[in-house]
Amino acid sequence: TTASTPRGELAEIVVNLAAIRHNVRVLRELIGVPLIAVVKADGYGHGMVEAARAAREGGAEWLAAATVAEALQLREAGYAGPLLCWLMLPGTDLERPVEEGIDLSAYSVAELDAIAAAAETVGRRARVQLKVDTGLNRGGAPRSSWLDLFSRARAGERDGTWKITGLWSHFACSDEPAHPANDRQEEAFRAAVALAEDCGLRPELLHLANSAAAVLRPSSRFDAVRCGIAVFGLDPAPGSTPDLGLIPAMTVRTRLALVKELAPGDAVSYGHRWVADRPTTVGLVPLGYGDGIPRHAFHPGPGPSAEVAVGGKRRPIRGTICMDQFMVDLDGEPAGIGDEVVLFGSGPDVPTAQDWAEACGTISYEIVTRIGGRMTRRYV
Ligand code: PLP
Repeated sequence: TTASTPRGELAEIVVNLAAIRHNVRVLRELIGVPLIAVVKADGYGHGMVEAARAAREGGAEWLAAATVAEALQLREAGYAGPLLCWLMLPGTDLERPVEEGIDLSAYSVAELDAIAAAAETVGRRARVQLKVDTGLNRGGAPRSSWLDLFSRARAGERDGTWKITGLWSHFACSDEPAHPANDRQEEAFRAAVALAEDCGLRPELLHLANSAAAVLRPSSRFDAVRCGIAVFGLDPAPGSTPDLGLIPAMTVRTRLALVKELAPGDAVSYGHRWVADRPTTVGLVPLGYGDGIPRHAFHPGPGPSAEVAVGGKRRPIRGTICMDQFMVDLDGEPAGIGDEVVLFGSGPDVPTAQDWAEACGTISYEIVTRIGGRMTRRYV
């Protein structure tokens, strides 16, 4: 259990590490190439260090984080294995990650120069993975700069500044398997690989696929895949993913803090956006947007608001989500103060983070990474 918070006794995030191990095993077997478990953003809200350990136990060969600080945190926690990070700000201290043998991504000559300076100061050969932009148009070297990047990379490899350990890119639309951008990006990636070879580079690890591509697009698996969301048991491409038996690793649970009766015409919470049309029993859930519950979990439409499970049954949220609390409709069922409320998790009649994402007009990634605030995390 992590440090207790003021909400510790009221609400908790239960993280099922066995589920993470299981998910990695399932993915690893299906995919058949080394798995890079992506544990950035505090392990998608599950706790980075604990999630990383479980992913390794499940068979992940590599770990990846976004920032240098996250990667260093994994080293500080005792992880000495292969580790990649890709988000460096100008001025980020690169000496420690070079010393720690962390693979640093570079997508510009300026970044390579900064890594070269760090490697020289430290007196150690850096490990560098080149990131090419194949159409996401986010990070990554634009195609027009590939030749310069690869030439500089090759020069630094020749003079012993670094080893180019990988070449990689990232999909924009892999959760829509039929999207034409996927083919285009894969073709562009193959072109980058060919050009790198022409420049004399032989990176050991070519990787392109995230969870959705890893599962749905075998041609994109190359030497490794970078899986985040599927490691945590959430569907990487809702509507397209076959049933793999992945188990959602996060359950958010609390207890009813209050139960009360409403008369027809009574309106609930800020803005009176929900009005009872009949006698209604409602319960108070002691969590709100200050704990990462999306305020949009209640909305007038289109589509239903989010639900929670009370006493094993799904109950709709009624009225605006507040900073610390919201109300649910108990629908005439017996319920009392202290009864368990599961916001989302796994199992029959329990909403999933994906259900919450659909109700909130977002993706499951956002639901799990933003949850937390004052809640205690408990590992099982
Ligand atoms: N690779 C990169 C560069 C990412 O930014 C992410 C996460 O967004 C991933 C891989 C993992 O993606 P997913 O969680 O869809 O598997």
